[in-house]
Amino acid sequence: MRENKQINQLYQQHPLLKKIASLKKVLWLNPFEARDKKVESFSFHKVLDAEQRLKRFSSYLKIAFPETEYCNGIIESDIKNISNFRHWLQKSGDVSIQGKLLLKCDHALPISGSIKARGGIYEVLKFAEQLALENQMIRLEDDYSIFHSESFRTFFNQYKIAVGSTGNLGLSIGIIGAKLGFQVTVHMSADAKEWKKQLLRQKGVEVIEYMSDYSKAVEQGRKQAELDLKCHFIDDENSQDLFAGYAVAALRLEKQLADANIKVDANHPLFVYIPCGVGGGPGGVAYGLKQLYGEHVHIFFGEPLQSPCMLIGMMTGLHDEISVADIGLTNKTEADGLAVGRASKFVGKVMEPIISGCYTVDESFLFQSLRRLNEMEQIFAEPSAHAGIYGPIALFKNGQQYIERNQLSDKMEQATHLIWSTGGNMVPIDQRQQYLQNSN
Ligand SMILES: *Cc1c(COP(=O)(O)O)cnc(C)c1O
Repeated sequence: MRENKQINQLYQQHPLLKKIASLKKVLWLNPFEARDKKVESFSFHKVLDAEQRLKRFSSYLKIAFPETEYCNGIIESDIKNISNFRHWLQKSGDVSIQGKLLLKCDHALPISGSIKARGGIYEVLKFAEQLALENQMIRLEDDYSIFHSESFRTFFNQYKIAVGSTGNLGLSIGIIGAKLGFQVTVHMSADAKEWKKQLLRQKGVEVIEYMSDYSKAVEQGRKQAELDLKCHFIDDENSQDLFAGYAVAALRLEKQLADANIKVDANHPLFVYIPCGVGGGPGGVAYGLKQLYGEHVHIFFGEPLQSPCMLIGMMTGLHDEISVADIGLTNKTEADGLAVGRASKFVGKVMEPIISGCYTVDESFLFQSLRRLNEMEQIFAEPSAHAGIYGPIALFKNGQQYIERNQLSDKMEQATHLIWSTGGNMVPIDQRQQYLQNSN
């Protein structure tokens, strides 16, 4: 906990912080966003490397998870027009959205039904490949379907993987880790839903539950893993592998947009809205997109009113040295994937020259949006994912200054707004019903 004196100073330096503390919806525009400023702490080479590695593993994924046969073992999601929903969204926010509106459907990613299917699965595959290479079990040019065999499973069973999670990261790592034969331990925060824990236990994953929030669960996981040389800890707060896996999405999106004849250039700005928890998922995507599109892409992160950790970390420059509790917020939200009180410092720093801003969104919007998207587009996305959907409202309501400052006013009709839907497909029917009924 920070001292009152320090907090009062922060309130004086950042008037917006008081509004955030009093649960007002805000849009923070990032003053550090700078064109052509190089990111020092991460290299794009890692993203290209991840893309290649995922290609090598596609033959494995295709047989280990038959649901990925249709996409040849490449874990990817579609982009969709949501024109019915668009009307509701405009009315609900009392805004008129200029330009195209698209949904990036990561709620439907195969294997684990959330954005974590990219980063989480990638880091486990990378660890498995490294072990197999070190032990002369494969060569890079081999057919990786051999990973789906008893001998590989027996070999990997000597090794452990551990992770701390609010739910979805644990789900993706548990599913792929157990499939390969690893002993997996997931340290779950109090926010994690019961069904996620049950599903993991069914798959033979050890689930350790904590009464505390996400940061504590990660800390405990890290501590226990350190004691064990055969344990690989997947560090959601600092992992560059996770980040690289998430960033691969940008390379794929570039192709999808081109295939759909959607231009991104000086006259066709691309706006992207992504829900943010600790920052790895949205950060990876944002990093990749900025590398590809530079100043033509404008990226905003969405966070719940009670958990704006990335916003306050970036705004104050304190990153992981400030938590939402320091300004009296509870970190309680039904958007369980975003229930993070302290953001990743690694990601926050990388995002400084990259993102355009962060906004907050209230719980009631999340549930209204959840019901309407389901009703009008037959798309079920979990509450966390709906933090992205509020993005165009935040921009058109409060972002006029941003549009003018970047001389975008006369280009907005040619803009594309891409909302990143981050999770949903794994949510069981009865939990969906609860969410849908909660939505008034
Ligand atoms: C984890 C998660 C996010 C945010 O990703 P972070 O890496 O935690 O920032 C968003 N939506 C859903 C559904 C998630 O599970």
